Amino acid sequence: MTKFSENFSRRKFIVTAGASAVSSILLKGCLGNPPEPGASAGGEADGGTGATPLATSPVAVANEKRVEGIESTKITLGYIPIVEAAPLIIAKEKGFFAKYGMTDVVVAKQANWGSARDNVEIGSAGGGIDGGQWQMPMPYLISKGLITKNSVQIPMYVLAQLNTQGNGIAIAGKHQGKGLGLKLDQAAQNYIKDLAKAGTPFKAAYTFPKVNQDLWIRYWLAANGINPDTDVSLLTVPAAQTVANMKTGSMDGFSTGDPWPLRIVKENIGFMSALTAEIWKGHPEEYLAIRGDWVDKHPKATAALLAGLIEAQQWCDKPEHRAELVSIVSGKSFFDVSPAILTPPYEGKYTMGDAKPDINEFKMSPLYWKDDIGNVSYPYASHDLWFLTESVRWGFLPTKTLSQKKEIIGKVNRGDLWKAAAKLAGVPDAEIPKNTSRGIEKFFDGKEFNPENPEEYLKSLAIKKV
Ligand code: CA
Repeated sequence: MTKFSENFSRRKFIVTAGASAVSSILLKGCLGNPPEPGASAGGEADGGTGATPLATSPVAVANEKRVEGIESTKITLGYIPIVEAAPLIIAKEKGFFAKYGMTDVVVAKQANWGSARDNVEIGSAGGGIDGGQWQMPMPYLISKGLITKNSVQIPMYVLAQLNTQGNGIAIAGKHQGKGLGLKLDQAAQNYIKDLAKAGTPFKAAYTFPKVNQDLWIRYWLAANGINPDTDVSLLTVPAAQTVANMKTGSMDGFSTGDPWPLRIVKENIGFMSALTAEIWKGHPEEYLAIRGDWVDKHPKATAALLAGLIEAQQWCDKPEHRAELVSIVSGKSFFDVSPAILTPPYEGKYTMGDAKPDINEFKMSPLYWKDDIGNVSYPYASHDLWFLTESVRWGFLPTKTLSQKKEIIGKVNRGDLWKAAAKLAGVPDAEIPKNTSRGIEKFFDGKEFNPENPEEYLKSLAIKKV
């Protein structure tokens, strides 16, 4: 079996500020979600409203709440141009990092997840990054040397969750009318299983293996009686290629994120079977994690950085800020997509396609600070445990991971640093989670994950590898 690290081309690190023609060509190839903003559909989805950004202005005064004795004003954070990255971009662009003294933060666009992984291994001193945006459990896999070059262990700290929701499962248009929605009845299950029997298995893609996108599509399939390891074919494919293949009919599904759910329907590529917000409302999504050596060396700068991020996340969740948010992140140096494409998901408006009712609810949109359950930014250790438990479920990590959970999570999850930074940012005590566990989690199929007993959760699942 090939190692993860061999599956990804090692692309050169690209700094947003200096994005050149060459880098944008590189970026077209392999993003977390397909870029191609100006592509045919962009124009259509634009609806003739034009892409002129709103005028924006920083809200915070640089150094207004500067942390005394800050060890550095600079850090380089990688991001993938999808909605998960918005708080990092907003913290930089609206001056929230600067407000706490982090005046020289670089937010650096990464060509793909493999590049981000390679760049954090190098570190900013070597022209890479110090940390940034990650799918889970990438910070754990990097810490353990499971996806790094030569299995080098790079201890990482998980410091904050960036967002919840904003992801979904897209299905190619040729499968319309087969009942492929959130829940699959027996006929729909047989439809997918029969494809495998006919020698043309349902092929579904994600952009990096063994992390969120892979885990969402596996959860959805297994909950619907389909074994993701034997009844379908799951594979890693660069996002743009997946969408091209869905258009020609050679790819059947794609675990994807905003703004692609909208574009997939509008561009007649296919439809959405489910949003992750329907599979697990308020689910954990992507995270800020930084190299442990950087954080240990810069404790005050870390607090300043996190306080700025927290303020940015609060800002992002105010409905009245979403238009300006779209205007900033859709810009050429960030996501480089039409604001008209980003606006509906940021308002919680989803066209699902395949005769499914549209969704129109702000609380179904990507959320950054608060959802119906509670705090989004705090990195609950219980969520890290869910990702590790799912990794055990599918044979990605050994079963002993669960008996060693306290030690493993204790080394990576730094919710303690988040709490200190929340106080610095003036978050009221009542809004700071008291427990490292969010408690029992509930899924669309009626399953429950009790963080006190992950073994019981595994036992309750009919389809698994372990
Ligand atoms: Ca995602």
